[in-house]
Amino acid sequence: MKRRNFIQKASLSTFGVVASASVVACNTDKEKNNVSSIVNSTSVEPIVIATWNVPNATAKAWEVLQNNGSSLDAVEQGCMIEEADVKNSSVGKGGAPDRDGNVTLDACIMDKDGNYGAVMCVQNITHVISLARKVMEETPHVILAGKGAENFGYDLGFKKENLLTESSKKAWEKWKETSDYKPVINIENHDTIGMLAIDHNGDISGACTTSGLSYKMAGRVGDSPIIGSGLFIDNEVGGATATGMGEEVLKTVGSFLIVELMRQGKTPQEACEEAVRRVVKKSGDRYKDFQVGFIALNKKGETGAYCIHEFFNYNVYKLGENKNYESLFYNQI
Ligand code: ASP
Repeated sequence: MKRRNFIQKASLSTFGVVASASVVACNTDKEKNNVSSIVNSTSVEPIVIATWNVPNATAKAWEVLQNNGSSLDAVEQGCMIEEADVKNSSVGKGGAPDRDGNVTLDACIMDKDGNYGAVMCVQNITHVISLARKVMEETPHVILAGKGAENFGYDLGFKKENLLTESSKKAWEKWKETSDYKPVINIENHDTIGMLAIDHNGDISGACTTSGLSYKMAGRVGDSPIIGSGLFIDNEVGGATATGMGEEVLKTVGSFLIVELMRQGKTPQEACEEAVRRVVKKSGDRYKDFQVGFIALNKKGETGAYCIHEFFNYNVYKLGENKNYESLFYNQI
C-alpha cells in the first residue's frame, strides 16, 4: 500500500472522522489565569520529605530551610549527606557497583521554575547531585552522561575519587561467586534518596540520587535521573519522586503521573496510590517480584506515600503539632 493511501485509510478507519483541522493557539493569558486558581498559594510552612529513613539528610535540608535557604539548596545539601555516607550502599560513595565492579551513579535535580539537570552513569564523583545542579545551571543541556559528565565535573573542581569501598568490594566479590541476578524485593538494595522540599517562599524543589540497582549491567540507567520518572516538580502543583525497580517506574513515568493527578485534584496520598496501581496493573504478575515506592508533596504542604510491598519507609521533617519541628519516620506496611 502506498504511504498516502495508508494515511487516508488510517484516518478513516482508525480515527473514524476526518475533519479539516486548524490548529488553535492557546490563549496564554487565559491559561495562566487558570493555573493561578490551582496554585491558590496560601502561606505554607517549610517541609522536607525523603524516601527511606534518612533523618540526617532531612535534618540537613531542614537546617538550610530554617536559615532561609531555598528548597533547591535544601534538597541538594540533604542528598549530599547520604552521598557522603559510605554506609549507605545505594547512594554516592560506598554505593554497590555494577556487575563489572564499577560504581556508577545517577542523579537529578529540579527547581521551582521547572529547570532540570541530570547526570547518569558517572564514576569517581561522590556528589553527583551537585554535578546535576551544575548541568542545570551552567550548561545549555539537561542531561550529561558518563565520561562527558565526569570531565565536566573535574573541570569545575569536583574531586576524583574511588567510590568502591572495601565493604562494597567484598559484597560484590561474594555476589560474583554465584553471579545470581534476580532482585529480591527490598533486598536488591534500592534505597535511592528522593527528596522534596518547600521553602519559606512556598517554592518546591526536588532531587534524586542513586547508585541504581546493585550488580546491574554496565551502562544500565534507571528511573532516578530521568525527568518525570524518578522525579518531577511543578511548582504550581507539587512534586513526586520514586524508589524501587526503575524499569517499572520508567514505563509508567510515575512521578509525572503523580503530579498530574494532583493537578486534577487528587491529594498526594491518592495520587501515589493511583500511580502504584498503574505500575501494578501494567506489570501483569511481575509486580509480585519487585518493589516500587513513591512519595509526593503538594503546594499546601500535604504529603503522601505508597508502595507495592511492605517495608518501604520515608522520612518527613516538618512543623509538629506542638509547634516544634520534628523528624517523623513512617513505615509503610
Ligand atoms: N530506582 C532506582 C533505580 O532503578 C533504584 C532504587 O530505588 O534504589 O536505579
